[in-house]
Amino acid sequence: MSKLDPEKLIADIIRFIETERELYGDFAIQRSTKTEISEQDSDQNSDQSVKPDAVEESSDHTYQSSNSTGDAIDKQEALFDENPNREIHQKIKECNTLDELEQLCRRADVLKTDLEGTNLVFGVGNSNADLVLIGEAPGADEDKQGEPFVGAAGQLLNKILEAVNFSRDDVYIANILKHRPPDNRNPNPEERKQSLPFLLRQIDIIKPKLILSLGKVSAQTLLDNDKTLGSMRGKFHSFRGEYQLMATYHPAALLRHAKWKRSTWEDVKLLRKRYDEIGCKP
Ligand code: URA
Repeated sequence: MSKLDPEKLIADIIRFIETERELYGDFAIQRSTKTEISEQDSDQNSDQSVKPDAVEESSDHTYQSSNSTGDAIDKQEALFDENPNREIHQKIKECNTLDELEQLCRRADVLKTDLEGTNLVFGVGNSNADLVLIGEAPGADEDKQGEPFVGAAGQLLNKILEAVNFSRDDVYIANILKHRPPDNRNPNPEERKQSLPFLLRQIDIIKPKLILSLGKVSAQTLLDNDKTLGSMRGKFHSFRGEYQLMATYHPAALLRHAKWKRSTWEDVKLLRKRYDEIGCKP
């Protein structure tokens, strides 16, 4: 039998702790001090100081129905009529099941980016979910497997879900774009505009009660604004008058900026609380 090497054991333990820390960040740590955490959007220098306790307090009562909500719905509805390709929008409206919509997406060249040969990443999960998560766009792993959030960001997303007692099978996960953009760049406005009607139909077929948007691109696209994520997160927004939407940081951003994990933790705790309060299932 080989002898136990204490140095190797310690190195293994340290590596294990570092991995856990990388994945969980502050998730397991309950801080009682009201430390201010500086939050910035990665590509904008908006410095938002957020007190975690204040977020919890205000968000309990906050269900933001901004004045622009009606305008946003009108604009989003107009996407169905405005587009030169009215025929496809009629076809989207006629889809009554996710399978029908997925078949339509498979044939829709309009959903493709300028990266050739990508696979459709339609969405995955419980088709009756009361909670739908919306990311930005598939990356290389997602493109390969045809499933959203299966790479490193997806592993972290699974941990975040588990931390508030959701399994991946409880929820439904999709993206703003259904095809991978080149070089993992952010979806551009034209791609978002072309993809949105398909996603809105997908959401309307599932009819969740809650939506969690992951990352700035997702929140800005769904809420039809160009606000910073720091200003959108931590509260519920009325989405198209039917759904309550919470915006939080993208798991890929958390892998790069651990300081945002605490805020994300606050957001998903609020989400879980609201999920239970309004009787969501499972
Ligand atoms: N990032 C996203 O926004 N979506 C995915 O599916 C994977 C990574």
